[in-house]
Amino acid sequence: MRWRALTSGRTGQVWWAGAALEEALREAQRAFPLETGGLLLGWSTCPGSVVITQVIGPGPDATHRSTSFTPDAAWQEAQLADAYEQAGRRLQYLGDWHTHPRGTARLSSTDRATLRRIAAHADARAPYPVMALLAGGPLWQVVVRQQIRRRRPLWRLTLEVWQ
Ligand SMILES: [Zn+2]
Repeated sequence: MRWRALTSGRTGQVWWAGAALEEALREAQRAFPLETGGLLLGWSTCPGSVVITQVIGPGPDATHRSTSFTPDAAWQEAQLADAYEQAGRRLQYLGDWHTHPRGTARLSSTDRATLRRIAAHADARAPYPVMALLAGGPLWQVVVRQQIRRRRPLWRLTLEVWQ
């Protein structure tokens, strides 16, 4: 705990739609004890302030292991296109979510690398990517982090669930 001040960086806020959070939790439980995850959609008006309205799951052809998973990328792409279409394009891809079944609520070095990759990937249009982590199971701890600056600690986003 005493290291927190050194490692946690600054804080922001995330508002996560209850139905979308429940969908992620249901999928986490379904895949348990294997890892799963997907995409986060919503909008963000400024760094450190994020609204999650929808999640996209792993897809039917995803492969799940205890400490990793590979999404069904083609399925996710189609889901993303549908979601954009329905929202009249007033929807952003924010980042990814995934589980750490029986694991800790800390982002791994792979998770951090994923954030850097999303931020660097112009097509993703997510310069400040978000990573949501569901750790544990069957009770899940939810942690949301955002990369604001590449070589700075990630921001911790305080979670508020809205209905
Ligand atoms: Zn992870």
